[in-house]
Amino acid sequence: MPPIFPSSTFIKGNPKGFDYTRSGNPNFRILETVLSSLEECSYTNVFASGVSAITAIASSMKTGDVVLCEENLYGCTIRLFEKVFKKFGLKTKWIDFTKKSSLQEISKIQPSLIWIESPTNPLLKIIDVKQVCEAAQNEKIPVVVDNTFSTAILQKPLDLGATISLTSTTKFINGHSDAIGGSISTNDINWHEKMSFAQKSLGLQPSPFDCWLITRGIKTLPLRIERQSQNASALADLLANHTSVKWVRYPFRIDHPQNHIAKKQMKTGGAIITVNLNANLNQTYSLCNNLEYFSMAESLGGVESLVCHPASMTHASVSSKTKKQLGIDNSLVRFSVGCEDLKDLSSDLKKVLDQLN
Ligand code: PLP
Repeated sequence: MPPIFPSSTFIKGNPKGFDYTRSGNPNFRILETVLSSLEECSYTNVFASGVSAITAIASSMKTGDVVLCEENLYGCTIRLFEKVFKKFGLKTKWIDFTKKSSLQEISKIQPSLIWIESPTNPLLKIIDVKQVCEAAQNEKIPVVVDNTFSTAILQKPLDLGATISLTSTTKFINGHSDAIGGSISTNDINWHEKMSFAQKSLGLQPSPFDCWLITRGIKTLPLRIERQSQNASALADLLANHTSVKWVRYPFRIDHPQNHIAKKQMKTGGAIITVNLNANLNQTYSLCNNLEYFSMAESLGGVESLVCHPASMTHASVSSKTKKQLGIDNSLVRFSVGCEDLKDLSSDLKKVLDQLN
């Protein structure tokens, strides 16, 4: 195992060229090298959180630039654009990238940047990353893909034509719910230089200890994702067959509206399942609270199963109007499936769903 380098400063003229930890540290370098190898790309920058990574990109835009965004992005990405960067003149347009017409919107709007997630949080919409990137390349528009729900193990945005693959390393990459981090991977040296500049000038750097934890977590990433995806796939079927469930979204289920795209660009359906229950707000909350193996908590991707009520948790900062428009209602529940024994998870879910009947 590599050591932890807690040093905030380094002796001038040291052979690796470190000066001050805000602009670089051996533990950042180690994690960046591992992440570049996972993404099969030239450059990675690590940040204090996924939101810091998003901030690094947004801060490199200028007043008047338009970011064309998928309408169902993570709630805090929406908040960052609308409540912070809007004040500095950054503009946004929100469209549904699962619609064919979105490709024409790209040439019509001529944005400075395109921002998508796939699968999206929490509705698990699947966007055809290759198709969007091809349309963007024709207009020389960079594309950011937030790959947090898949990681490079399941889906490689840069291979599909994206300029930047962004990940909240807090989730699957670390996998143990004990560190917060973010990363940006690219093959474009200009973007890499902009990200290094943002890291030191905005103070977006992670801590050496968190980088060390995340580097350690990655060692089991493929094993965890394999097990979590197997569990999730089985649980998605269980949920779909229960009368208390109105509908299930799981990318590799045949009833997912973009199942054919998911199969094309992802290796497995991942470990997140979203359901809409035949239940009101109180019943939905008590289902979440009554689960034994799924703790009701923010975040996802760790070895322990979690359950979340997006309307009042991850997307609480999104306006009621937007939530309604997107379909994030009070009966929506998102499961992050962990590595526990499938029998325990199945009986836990079945028990609380039966209580709803
Ligand atoms: N992107 C997605 C898709 C997320 O789900 C999250 C957090 O849940 C983030 C970005 C932000 O990451 P962090 O919480 O590490 O800042």
